[in-house]
Amino acid sequence: MCRHLGWLGSPRSLAELMLDPPYGLLVQSYAPRRQQHGLLNADGWGAGFFDVSGSGEPRRWRSASPLWSDTSFASVAPVLSSHCVVAAVRSATVGMPIEASATAPFAGGNWLLSHNGVVNRAVLSSHAKAESVCDSAILAATIVEHGVDSLAEVIVETAAADPQARLNILAANGSRLLATTWGDTLSMLHGADGVVLASEPYDDDPRWIDIPDRHLVDVHDGEVSVTALEGSR
Ligand code: GLN
Repeated sequence: MCRHLGWLGSPRSLAELMLDPPYGLLVQSYAPRRQQHGLLNADGWGAGFFDVSGSGEPRRWRSASPLWSDTSFASVAPVLSSHCVVAAVRSATVGMPIEASATAPFAGGNWLLSHNGVVNRAVLSSHAKAESVCDSAILAATIVEHGVDSLAEVIVETAAADPQARLNILAANGSRLLATTWGDTLSMLHGADGVVLASEPYDDDPRWIDIPDRHLVDVHDGEVSVTALEGSR
């Protein structure tokens, strides 16, 4: 399944977050270290970020090509900086379209969202508002429609409706970064200048910690909380 990354802290460039780390999203696109589902993430990539000096609207750059093939992004990424970023590399689920609009991050109501996993589209409600027919796009639209404050409830209810679902979500709005673990890995690095949440550590810094399965991580105002999701076994 896909690999994603969220950042909330001091401004960092997209290159620092995605391309430069020894095991960052660029390397994860062809040689992920902890991926349990799928071998590589070559079906597209996306980066979304908030611009403090702008309107607060998230900005996105997405592509259906492998991240390693995008030389234009590699050229520009060192000068695209933000305090709040959601980025992903994609391994498309069988049957899902390979197109930029099916690639995270998805946007809705000033939130950026990414989904690492798979879900039966029949249990989701917000088909009409989704950017793509991809399960992740419909799940993102469903979360936005219910309100991202209700992320934990939506995940627990979706998992009850589709017990096979894997529902690792990242969501950010410029001042808050949320993540769920439900069926796949997530690690956190809480440094002096911010918090990284990533499907897998992008380097061997000993401060990375693994988030247990079926948990919610909530980062805002320099505080981090990690709580068990209701319905956990
Ligand atoms: N199901 C989503 C897709 O097809 C996400 C896949 C993933 O996590 N690898 O894009």
